[in-house]
Formats: sequence, C-alpha cells, structure tokens
Amino acid sequence: LHQPQHGDPIVAIATAPGKGGVGVVRFSFPSPSSFQAFCTAFCGKLPKPRLATLLTLRDFDQHAIDEGIALLFNAPASFTGENVLEFQGHGGQAVLQGVVGHALALARQLNIPLRHAMPGEFTQRAFLNDKLDLAQAEAVADLIDAGSIATAKAAAASLSGVFSKQVNALADRIVHLRLLLEATLDFPEEEIEFLEKADAKGQLADILNAHRQLLGAAQEGVKFRDGLQIVLVGEPNVGKSSLLNALAGEEIAIVSAIAGTTRDRIKQELNIRGVPLVLVDTAGLRDTADEVERIGIARTRKSVEEADLLLILKDATQGLQDALNTHLELPLHLPTITVLNKVDLLPKVPQLLNDVLPVSAKNGLGLEQLKDAILAKVGIAHTPDHGFMARQRHVDALMVCGQHLAVAHEFAQQDDRILDLFAEELRLAHDALGEITGRMLPDDLLGLIFSRFCIGK
Ligand code: GDP
Ligand code: ZN
Repeated sequence: LHQPQHGDPIVAIATAPGKGGVGVVRFSFPSPSSFQAFCTAFCGKLPKPRLATLLTLRDFDQHAIDEGIALLFNAPASFTGENVLEFQGHGGQAVLQGVVGHALALARQLNIPLRHAMPGEFTQRAFLNDKLDLAQAEAVADLIDAGSIATAKAAAASLSGVFSKQVNALADRIVHLRLLLEATLDFPEEEIEFLEKADAKGQLADILNAHRQLLGAAQEGVKFRDGLQIVLVGEPNVGKSSLLNALAGEEIAIVSAIAGTTRDRIKQELNIRGVPLVLVDTAGLRDTADEVERIGIARTRKSVEEADLLLILKDATQGLQDALNTHLELPLHLPTITVLNKVDLLPKVPQLLNDVLPVSAKNGLGLEQLKDAILAKVGIAHTPDHGFMARQRHVDALMVCGQHLAVAHEFAQQDDRILDLFAEELRLAHDALGEITGRMLPDDLLGLIFSRFCIGK
C-alpha cells in the first residue's frame, strides 16, 4: 500500500460544496514529467501554461464528463510552488466528483500516485515551497472564514505579509544585536568600549519598543479574528435586549415590558465599525424561585467571567444611585462602561460623570458615542484598514519573545561580563519569533495547524 507522501501529486475540489455556476478541481504535482503525462491524457492535449484552454473532459468510453477550462501553472510560479492544474467545470457536486474520480482512475492507469489532498495540503505545500510563511498560510484560512469585509481586509493584510514583515524586521534587529555581542565575545579586552560605540543598549531599547508595538498590534489582530465578547448586565427591564437590538440593527432578542423576560443569555454577532463582536444579553439578574430563570442566571455569571468588556446598563428613570445589583460579583480587572438608558424619558439629557454614557435604545440617542467608547475601552486603536489579523498562537510566541528580551535587558544593565547570557537570551527571543513564521516549528505542530484547514485549501 502506498503511504501518503509529501511528494505525491494531489487533487481536490477547491470550491465549496453545494451548487454554483463554476466549480474548480485543483491538482498539484511535484514531478514535472508525471504532470505533463497526466495533463496530456486528462485534457486530450497539453494546455499552454497560463492560458485558458476550453476542453471537453471524456471518460475511457469517450463519453463527455464535463466541459470547462483548464489552467496550467508550471513550477515554481504557482500557488503551491509545484506544477498546478486547475479545471474550472460546472459547479455541481456530482459533476466535480466525477471529474476527480476520472482523474484518479486515469492516474492509476498511467501509474501516477495521484491521491485526494488532505485538509490544508495545498497551502501546506505553498508553505513548504517558501511561497508563504506560516502566518501567511494561516491568513489564507482566516480570509476564507472572515465574516465581514473589515475582517477580510485584516486577513488579506496578513496574507500579503504585513504582519510577517514586521515579525521579520524585529527578528533582523535581534539577530543584528546578537551578532554584535557574539563578535564582542571574541575580543573581551575591548568589550565595553566596542558595545558603547555600537550603542548596544540603545539598540536593545529600540528592539523592546518595536516588540511592544508589534505585540499590541497582534493582540488587536486576535480580536479581529475571534470577536470581542461584550456582556450586557443590568437589572431586569432596564433595556438590555433593546440596546442589543439597537446595536445589531435588527430584532434578535425578545423585548418585553415584563421584568424577567430574557431568561437565557442571547448571543448576537455584529460588527461595530467593522470589528467583530459577540454581544451577550444576560438573564435578568435577580433572586428567583423559577428554575429555568436560575439556570439563565448561572450562565450569565459564566459569560461575565469570559467577557472582554462589561456594559452595565441602568434605567435613567430609576436614577443613577440605584445600586447595580448585589448578586453579581463583577471582576474588577475588566473594562467597564456604564450606560444610562431611556434618557428619552427624561425632560433633558443629564450632565454625567466620566464613564457614564447617556443613551436611548429607543430613539438611537448616544449610540454612536457608545460604539466609539466600546472600541476605545477594548483597545482597538486602529481602523481595520491599518490592522492585520493574528492568532493567539502568534501572541503567545510574541509574549515568550518579550520575556527573553526582558531578561536580556536585565543583563544589559549589569556591567560585569555576562555578554554570553545576554546573547543567549537574544537567541531565544529570536527563536520565539521563528514560531510565528514557521521557521522554528516542529513538523508535527505544522501538520496540526494545516489539518484544521478545509479540504481543497
Ligand atoms: P431588559 O429586560 O433589560 O432586556 O429590557 P428590555 O430591552 O426588554 O426593555 C424593557 C422595556 O423598556 C421595554 O418595554 C422597552 O421597550 C423599554 N425600553 C428599552 N429601552 C428604552 C429606551 O431607551 N427608551 C424607552 N422609552 N423605553 C425603552
Ligand atoms: Zn431582555
């Protein structure tokens, strides 16, 4: 039996399951000779590279399977960096599966070990052939998964290398300083003077600064990917569901004048200025004998623990002095915005203290200010056009990098001869960055990352 190998030619349906005008079957062949043999047999003649070639695919009995366009890309100028054939046929699952089935049978006849691609295998090959680094490969999946045009833009920025370039620029600076230190190690008698001339401390300060900025941008990028969890808390009937509806711009939660209607938390995904958010409407928080409502309240507490931001809602007609509620222990570390709702019922909008926003879920007053405040509180400083998408994995690696830079900084402050330790910390910081671009990741971890892709990517 033939074990799956990186060197096998692979095939997959590249378009999403379902019906569409066009469906694409993609092939990638490491070997140019079997690629040519296969394409000649499959297409009836060898299509010219990068030229749309209309053809009718036929099975062994010369019955037509589909009619479509063949596009051929010779290595290395292709998505995977290998020899790639794309067949654009009619977008139905039976047709496309027929095309793939015929291709596999034809390859068997030609003694070519063509097989179905594993999830993410096309992108994995692009990575292995240096077409993309790992952060860019991950951005392929994130771009496809993006739920708004702003998130798509952020993912596209990562795919085009905006994030990777910054990681590499930081890595280069670290390497530069490390080489300087290591060169100095060979000439201990001139050590101090040499380092002062090269301003080693200044270089390290610049590196720390660049690291801090990159970490902040990556943390923002993670929020772009995962969505921020915002929890609405407040007494029953203050207008939590109404506010959620007003922000979402549609009727999703049940609004009712009877206290305690919202029995379960209701999650709603929405975008504020293009930033994806998950808004959680909470069960009316109060002591209750009602079993169903109690379960809702328990879940609310859990949402509160996971939140990125708390919106505490109060009813303007009840007065601001009204104690929030004594049942909920609010985590103090969380950013909080207090919102005074129903100000439309007051004779005039009150002058409020800092961090209390007057709004009306009913007539929309103050909602734009609330959106600004939400983004500001959770630390989204960039507009989506300037941001890039990142994953928690990247932030974790940047944190490790930062820890080593901090230790390096400690060593740099001391005047005795610990340059070798200083240099070693820089090496470790550099390795941590390599995990982001995939330079320093073991194969099994790489495999795991790509296996989470869909088939055909
Ligand atoms: P929740 O229990 O906190 O989710 O509150 P709801 O959203 O269900 O609202 C309770 C009642 O207050 C409903 O009758 C809403 O129409 C009303 N309400 C909510 N927001 C406003 C507002 O800004 N102005 C006015 N006048 N009424 C509101
Ligand atoms: Zn409600």
